[in-house]
Amino acid sequence: MTDTDDPLRLLADGMLGRLARWLRLLGYDTAYENDADDLELARRARAEGRILLTRDRALAARRGLRTLLIESEQVQEQVRQVVETLGPPPNPALSRCSLCNVPLEPATPQQVADRVPPYVLQTQKRFGICPTCGRVYWAGTHLQHMKRYLGKSLSFWSLENDT
Ligand SMILES: [Zn+2]
Repeated sequence: MTDTDDPLRLLADGMLGRLARWLRLLGYDTAYENDADDLELARRARAEGRILLTRDRALAARRGLRTLLIESEQVQEQVRQVVETLGPPPNPALSRCSLCNVPLEPATPQQVADRVPPYVLQTQKRFGICPTCGRVYWAGTHLQHMKRYLGKSLSFWSLENDT
């Protein structure tokens, strides 16, 4: 089952949408519930074996639930806390869609030529396409910036940005 192959699975509550998108980009399987109440969040986290990420102390203290109380309001600090507390992402960066949380399909520059800016085509070799929404992904500067910010937290783990 996927539970044993890929045990680190996350669920972000309604206040953590930006964090959820970043965690997906970095390679964490991260479900996101925009408007679920605490009971629904707890139920889904248990049913799918996910660690619930929340800024709500009462929710984080719920019994019978694996939770991580997110301390900062800054998304970069939130990402850092997740990486340092839960460990590096189980999947490579840019392996899942930041909006849909589904695995990306690899694509060649030719396949995405009409959908990305020319300078990106010239500088990037690896692309991924979301099979659900069609978004195209590559290792852009925002990802490099986040990697620099995380710095030491990620010394044991590198973004897949080469050939
Ligand atoms: Zn998508």
